[in-house]
Amino acid sequence: GYRSRAAYKLQQLDEMEDLLSHGDRVVDLGAAPGGWLQVASERVGTGTVIGVDLQRIDSLEGVETIKGDMTDEGTRGEIIERIGEADTVLSDMAPNMTGEYSLDQARSVHLARQAFETAREILTPGGDLVVKVFEGRDLDALRDDMEAEFEYVRTTSPAASREESSEVYLIAKGFLTAPVEAGQ
Ligand code: SAM
Repeated sequence: GYRSRAAYKLQQLDEMEDLLSHGDRVVDLGAAPGGWLQVASERVGTGTVIGVDLQRIDSLEGVETIKGDMTDEGTRGEIIERIGEADTVLSDMAPNMTGEYSLDQARSVHLARQAFETAREILTPGGDLVVKVFEGRDLDALRDDMEAEFEYVRTTSPAASREESSEVYLIAKGFLTAPVEAGQ
């Protein structure tokens, strides 16, 4: 079985958007407890999967984990050191909910921006980014910025996440520029 219901969302996103292929190198941000990691590792087979979270992730065969905060630059550096380049960056990061939507939503956009910045540094040309974000303010600007660097961006909501109606996933396919070299 899967560690979280979230696993079904990644399965649906992959079926809709063809995100994960055998041999891919995948970075999963906000990966705890590890449902997406399980789905990703099944689908990439001999590929590489690295999961990052503030929380400790229980070990999972064939998956590397990093305990770190994606709002801290050092964590991004650690990912680059471990994997160099990635074919796919996934982010299911969500802030701790305060219950005040405008605050939670602003934090969600901030986390999504961190995922986008990470993708810009590590994606191989043609690579893909999937990022969860809560609908609202600044989402259009984020999407516009992503559109400048990918062949196309789609906003989607998998059936498995319909209950949490405010969350959507931005699917950015076909990264257009070479990754920025670490430390330069
Ligand atoms: N995709 C996961 C799964 O399939 O099991 C579920 C992810 S859960 C919805 C969101 C995760 O984002 C939480 O585990 C949380 O700790 C993580 N998170 C939130 N802020 C973060 C940050 N700044 N850096 C790293 N992870 C973060």
